[in-house]
Amino acid sequence: MRLSKSLVPTLKEAPAEAEVPSHVFMVRGGYLRKVAAGVYSFLPLGWRVIQKIQRIIREEMNRAGASEVFLPAVVPAELWQESGRWDKYGAQLLRFKDRKGGDFVIGPTHEEVIVDLVRGDVRSYRQLPLNLYQIQTKFRDELRPRAGLMRGREFIMKDAYSFHVDQKDAEREYHVMYGAYERIFTRCGLGFRAVEADTGAIGGSMSHEFQVLTETGEDLLVACDKCNYAANVEQADNRIGDLRDRALPPATEAIAKVATPGKGSIEDVSAFLKLSPTRFVKTLIYLADGKSVAVLVRGDRQVNEIKLKRALGAGELVMAGEAGVREVTGAPVGFAGPVGLKIPVYADFELRALADFVVGANEVDMHYRGVNAGRDFTPAAFGDYRQAAPGDPCARCESGTLQSHRGIEVGQVFFLDRKYSVPMKATFLDADGHEKPMVMGCYGIGVTRIAAAAIEQNHDKDGIIWPTPIAPYEVALLSLQGDDPALKAVCDKLYADLEAAGIEVLYDDRDERPGSKFKDADLIGIPLRVALGKKGLAEGVVEVKARRSPEVQKVKIDDAVAFVTERVRAERR
Ligand code: ATP
Ligand code: MG
Repeated sequence: MRLSKSLVPTLKEAPAEAEVPSHVFMVRGGYLRKVAAGVYSFLPLGWRVIQKIQRIIREEMNRAGASEVFLPAVVPAELWQESGRWDKYGAQLLRFKDRKGGDFVIGPTHEEVIVDLVRGDVRSYRQLPLNLYQIQTKFRDELRPRAGLMRGREFIMKDAYSFHVDQKDAEREYHVMYGAYERIFTRCGLGFRAVEADTGAIGGSMSHEFQVLTETGEDLLVACDKCNYAANVEQADNRIGDLRDRALPPATEAIAKVATPGKGSIEDVSAFLKLSPTRFVKTLIYLADGKSVAVLVRGDRQVNEIKLKRALGAGELVMAGEAGVREVTGAPVGFAGPVGLKIPVYADFELRALADFVVGANEVDMHYRGVNAGRDFTPAAFGDYRQAAPGDPCARCESGTLQSHRGIEVGQVFFLDRKYSVPMKATFLDADGHEKPMVMGCYGIGVTRIAAAAIEQNHDKDGIIWPTPIAPYEVALLSLQGDDPALKAVCDKLYADLEAAGIEVLYDDRDERPGSKFKDADLIGIPLRVALGKKGLAEGVVEVKARRSPEVQKVKIDDAVAFVTERVRAERR
């Protein structure tokens, strides 16, 4: 592509709202323009990146035996009502009415549509298994769209759904997809890790997320330094050991009320009482399906709301606000404690190893010391309610310690079981003529998010450094003096010959100064740069430089096409 004939509007400055490198460089590099919050137009370079990612995904999905379909983005509400998600999905679901007053949604995922399709046309075990996928625009009315393509409201997803006669076959397919995902992200040039994951609003019971590891990732992950256990902290198990049924430790102190004037946070009270936060117990008040409950974790720990919600079997779990806390404890936030509370108290397993701790006294500026579970209050249950943290012992192996990482979720595989097939009556006849619900899996990839994640992992201060397989072009050809006819003739020929050799070339034939061409090339991030100016022409050489390395190589003009072709081919996957 000739830069002079396309739309690659590079910018010196990024918009103020762009905080992460992928967002900054995609806007500055002329890949992307914002249309509304979380809604973007892809310019020619941006769209090529997306198409390359899509091609890799298609090749690997087809290779894994899946078939591509294309479902509508606009979905009638009836299907969502049938699955029960119409009421459950919440404000992320974009709902609207057509001119006749019928309710519709723009699909944030497509389980309902695909189940409706398959139940209509698949009747017999002979037609199973089946794996159907699409690459399509989704809409989720995210509360905080941010970081450009990382969390858009409109974004492109690859979503696949598989249908099986039984769980065993669904599990087989889960592993097939897991393998396909490993190949897809490897081919995209990403450094990633598969981690155990929560199943969220989609549901089901077995899931892995594919996380691109980078500092700017939104997700917090833990991984064992000895075994291969890795999980999103939302999901990560804690090593419980014998805490489940160990006897409570004996109390050695009497309970005593202490004044802690103006000290509500654990840090403040622990500094004031000169006791480590591990001697404190935090009391958090939640509303589980509207009913108040108290949850206790050690002072240095965080509650894992996803695990808590699951353990309580609650449909909805939210923290009680200021007023809710005051109502159940009689005190402002910061002074809640389990002693004397009239609501159920759920204590994290770690409290079974703790005696004589400090809690809020349900009274402003007051705490209790020397508190003991069993003696001073009775938990409704002990459970695993806390969030795993770096430094914790691994829950899977005997000797490992958890390390923390940050990641960007680029894909997720789910075992869905019969979550949709039962309510939506997607059944088949087995070999004995019995009608059974199909067992399902679903598999998503954030196509547009991959582009952002790749940049987060591959950039420097000057711009993007694309992995070749998803770069918009493989080679940037810079004609350094666009107005020189002799130079232009040689560059035009190089361009034509490289294209003829099957190399994708971005040809900077604009009438710009060499300095700004080099700057733009670095910003745009094409993996290999070939530059030719009048001086090189006199010497008979082009300058070849990989975006990733500072080294510049002089190559004879006559050898340039062969040299570049070989370099590019070595980088393709
Ligand atoms: P997240 O936890 O990041 O909100 P999710 O787990 O809700 O994502 P899934 O339902 O698993 O998302 O969707 C499949 C894939 O689609 C995700 O792995 C992610 O890569 C991508 N994706 C989801 N939401 C967005 C978004 N708002 N913008 C861009 N990509 C997204
Ligand atoms: Mg997900």
